[in-house]
Amino acid sequence: MIKAATVEDAAYRAMVVGASRGIGLGLVRVLLTHGWQVTATVRDTARTPPALSDLQKQHDVALEIIELDLGQSSRPAELAQSLGPQALNLLVISAGIMGPDHQRAEQASREETGELFDLNAMAPLRLARALLPAMTPQGVIGFLSSRMGSVSLNDSGDRELYRASKAALNSLTRGFAVNEAIPAGVGVLNLHPGWVQTDMGGDDAPVTVEQSVTGLVKVLEGALGRSEQRFVDFEDQTLTW
Ligand code: NDP
Repeated sequence: MIKAATVEDAAYRAMVVGASRGIGLGLVRVLLTHGWQVTATVRDTARTPPALSDLQKQHDVALEIIELDLGQSSRPAELAQSLGPQALNLLVISAGIMGPDHQRAEQASREETGELFDLNAMAPLRLARALLPAMTPQGVIGFLSSRMGSVSLNDSGDRELYRASKAALNSLTRGFAVNEAIPAGVGVLNLHPGWVQTDMGGDDAPVTVEQSVTGLVKVLEGALGRSEQRFVDFEDQTLTW
């Protein structure tokens, strides 16, 4: 196993997708503190939130902010080309949506269902697949999944569509890990961040962004060099699929 990155390891490079707020923004903050070079993606750089701009002022060249809308299907190939081979040690795809506010799946329109499954399941796979050549062997790709995406742990059934979109992400990324990432020496983590106080998680969530991202970065750094897949939470507890 490669040791966790430290400030001395200035060449360690990470990309965090969906870094404008919430867990993605928190991950950028912790990775910078640990000495990583970070590329943070936002949907529109002209509307970069102050919290991310402030981080850039503090960390200067260590933080690059680029534009990426996960819904744009041509963007992953462009990004792979601009990065070149073996440029990233870590790719974390945090962007995601809760989707329509219906309790039952069949209440959603085809458009709502399509958008949710494309953004939460297909788009992360599309991006990871395109960027695999840009990963260093021994690197790690982290997908922000959810405990709600576990079929075996589904004991309430609420938020049917969101659950199913994260289960689809888990299924698609299992195949990607087995057939593509692990043979290339790249580890894959399907991450449950806890129920976190973000715009998505709401104010009643028991876990702060700080607690979640501190734990997630520890898990991600600990997975460097392992070339395996795990479904794991921010406290390093393995979840069943
Ligand atoms: P937030 O709603 O706080 O933030 C969502 C992020 O995703 C924003 O940066 C948003 O960008 C970005 N995003 C949304 N759509 C797109 C798109 N089309 N292209 C690019 N970026 C996009 O969510 P959290 O930080 O709470 O969640 C992060 C991840 O963790 C999600 O995948 C979520 O499903 C998962 N998760 C969260 C939990 C929680 O309790 N919070 C629990 C379990 C899993 P913009 O600002 O431009 O909208």
